[in-house]
Amino acid sequence: MRCTEAQTLIESYVDGELDLVRNLDMEQHLGDCSACSSMRQQALELRSRIRQEAPYFRASADLKEKVRAVARAERTESRRSWVPMWTWSGAVAAVLLLAVITFGVVRRAAESSRHQIITQEIVADHIRSLMANHLTDVTSTDQHTVKPWFHGKLDFAPPVDDFAAEGFPLIGGRLDYVDGRSVAALVYQRRQHPINLFVWTADGKYAEKLNRQARQGYNILSWSRDGMTYCAISDLAADEMQSFVDLLQK
Ligand SMILES: [Zn+2]
Repeated sequence: MRCTEAQTLIESYVDGELDLVRNLDMEQHLGDCSACSSMRQQALELRSRIRQEAPYFRASADLKEKVRAVARAERTESRRSWVPMWTWSGAVAAVLLLAVITFGVVRRAAESSRHQIITQEIVADHIRSLMANHLTDVTSTDQHTVKPWFHGKLDFAPPVDDFAAEGFPLIGGRLDYVDGRSVAALVYQRRQHPINLFVWTADGKYAEKLNRQARQGYNILSWSRDGMTYCAISDLAADEMQSFVDLLQK
């Protein structure tokens, strides 16, 4: 099993939904691969956080009464010799409806919680890159030097463009780590402000359309496009970050 397959199956694995063969493949892969096994750890932590923090809705008195009424009618009817199907289907429908509502709520909570975790990691990566004096592994203003540098280090090729003419020169790149996987970090600069642009292959969950957040004095813009997820972060003002993102989205 390869990492890409393992990572798409990790949530099903954690929920015990895989068949026996895949389950064994997965266990073998997790034993060999620290990246995927740290994703498993994150999935387990997320699951326990959902149990603790996701909103829980009690059935309304009205709904409870309807379910009870159906059950009472069923008891009365079952004393007779035939089983009325409509009472069963009413009870089953009520339970199914409740299950569907609960599932939707939990799923949304899980996605937003995962989104928050990724954003927190992005902020931490950005701060670390500034504090540890480790902004770039490859320092170059030439996109034709930076782009091939990632070759063989990632299983995708991040698009690399220079925007020196527009006031956002490329200054290099490095490998970083987000959401349990290696990602490209492209580094740009606006006056004295470094911008980290994280790029990884999109899984359609983190950012579909442009999303703006402010955390700990940083502006963070994330979006997905052409199968890649992008996340730009810096201490620049929101309007300057927007100009930068406009260049990338051109
Ligand atoms: Zn792996």
